[in-house]
Amino acid sequence: MKAPAFSYARPRQLAEVLALLDRHRDEARLLAGGQTLLATLNMRLSEPALLIDLQGVAALRGLQLSGNTLRIGAMVTHSEIEASAEVARHAPLLAMAAPHIAHRAIRNLGTFCGSIAYGDPAAEWPACLLALDGVVVARSVAGERRIAAKDFYTGLYTTTLLPNEMIVACELPLAAAGQHFVFDELSRRHGDYAVVGLAAGAQLQNGVLGQVRLAWLGTGSMPQRSTATEQVLDGQRLSQAVLAQALQTLRAELQIEGDLTHSPAAKQHLVGVMLKRALHTLTQQPALQA
Ligand SMILES: Cc1cc2nc3c(=O)[nH]c(=O)nc-3n(C[C@H](O)[C@H](O)[C@H](O)COP(=O)(O)OP(=O)(O)OC[C@H]3O[C@@H](n4cnc5c(N)ncnc54)[C@H](O)[C@@H]3O)c2cc1C
Repeated sequence: MKAPAFSYARPRQLAEVLALLDRHRDEARLLAGGQTLLATLNMRLSEPALLIDLQGVAALRGLQLSGNTLRIGAMVTHSEIEASAEVARHAPLLAMAAPHIAHRAIRNLGTFCGSIAYGDPAAEWPACLLALDGVVVARSVAGERRIAAKDFYTGLYTTTLLPNEMIVACELPLAAAGQHFVFDELSRRHGDYAVVGLAAGAQLQNGVLGQVRLAWLGTGSMPQRSTATEQVLDGQRLSQAVLAQALQTLRAELQIEGDLTHSPAAKQHLVGVMLKRALHTLTQQPALQA
């Protein structure tokens, strides 16, 4: 199928983007990498009157380290993150997750912030943002709003972004010394969206787990943290008894929904396997020398 007719704007200044968005609101769509939007247009799942192409806005490009924060501009692609030595050193969870996203051609165009805005529950970046307690930086003509990752998603493909707001960047705290990270997912074929996946992190001191973070993708209508399970693990050494308690808590707390190919029961089983594997990897990998 072909996309319906639409008007097209390619502004060079962020102020122009914000003014167009304010004027057209729900009638407009921002075009970032186009790797999701163009497919939805061609399938006529979306029929905006205006596409606002962000490619010409230089201010939205680039990864920046500043103090304790990594800032990912709205037009930073999955491939830029995958190739960045600074990301590998200061945000290793992102470096681990990037190769799981689709295929090279899609990663070369698709953007981190586009994925955050779209909010596919099986996508990698929203779960990473949640695991790292990241912040979404939103802008409109009225100014800037900073939204904590845990408050950003409200349901399936829905976020707290207002119709005249866009994401100008996402910010993540840099990894600290002694932190360990794991990203894992199960998919039918490499590059497919995940059936289930886990973005995890923890501090380890003399084998004792602390600040455990477990953020799940593919388990429900939006990414979710399992905070009760995190609390079971915090302050503990990994043992059979601790693992058993963590698995029991995880079963009780995760709101698991099935999808076209996997029942809730199958996903329930898979998340248990994934937690077990992740905890073994976390406690055995060498600590980060930040
Ligand atoms: C075959 C295929 C396989 C894929 N597999 C995966 C996968 O395994 N994992 C995964 O995570 N993704 C996957 N994707 C999606 C891909 O990662 C997209 O690049 C990503 O979801 C959206 O980024 P984009 O820059 O292409 O956004 P676009 O397609 O340009 O936009 C997507 C939506 O977000 C909005 N938007 C974009 N940028 C902003 C912004 N800055 N502020 C507010 N709203 C904005 C747009 O208006 C649109 O509604 C796949 C895509 C394809 C085609």
